[in-house]
Amino acid sequence: MKCPQCGFDEKHAVRETRRDAGQIRRSRRCAACGHIFKTIENVSEDGMMVRKSDGSVVPFTRSAIAKSIKKATVKAYERKKINGVVDAVTEAVYEEAARPGGAVSSLEIGKAVLKELANDQASRIRYALVQTGRTDRSDLREGWANVEDFRRWLLAEYSELEHYPARSKVSYVVKRNGKREKFDRPKLERSIGLASKGRGSDGQVWDKATVVADHVLRMLGDQPIVTSGQIAAEILRFLREKDHIAYLRFASTVKEFENAEEYEEEALALRKVRITGWDEPLS
Ligand SMILES: [Zn+2]
Repeated sequence: MKCPQCGFDEKHAVRETRRDAGQIRRSRRCAACGHIFKTIENVSEDGMMVRKSDGSVVPFTRSAIAKSIKKATVKAYERKKINGVVDAVTEAVYEEAARPGGAVSSLEIGKAVLKELANDQASRIRYALVQTGRTDRSDLREGWANVEDFRRWLLAEYSELEHYPARSKVSYVVKRNGKREKFDRPKLERSIGLASKGRGSDGQVWDKATVVADHVLRMLGDQPIVTSGQIAAEILRFLREKDHIAYLRFASTVKEFENAEEYEEEALALRKVRITGWDEPLS
């Protein structure tokens, strides 16, 4: 870019950037003479190029960015909001991507997206997990290989977490409708007890519910957030070897059997499963 005053043709410092309606207006200071001048760039994806991690260079497309954002958002964004993020990302990388012979790296695009998702922690972290959590890149230096790599990033990005008292037991259950509630062991035991109701005295049923709840917590107890599906799967796994009628009762509440055939299929399969004692470990 040439300075209109002295003709010096290099990168000039940007003093101010304004964006509107697909245009970037910048105020720059000439690196040679200090002259201040304005530039207007029309942002369009035409001519913008991306250098991917494998070194290949491909055209920049807004739709690819929009797609990656849609996948990451936890609560879906309206089209207008996605477009706003894509606009900002496109503008942020425009200069690098549209430079003749130039290209913006996919890493830089990722950084620009993370910046735009600053107000939505859950989506931002999910985006980072997908983008930075890849191991198929040739520029692996910045990718995460394990959970410690992830934590290093997380603590660097969210320094308030440094003294966060982490929970290491089940605290929340996310239900099928996406709502979450506080984990409630008595409630869990009641739902298990319902499946075993009348399968022995009330005291025995209560004892069995306790044993199943213990199993569930042994399997899931170190996950702060679990889904109701995870809990149901553990209950089914346990009852399947302990009491087939209790199993079928519980299955009838979570598997949504639609007809007699489906019960028959389940029952036939159960005949092959050996019953073990309530105090015996699962096979
Ligand atoms: Zn100049």
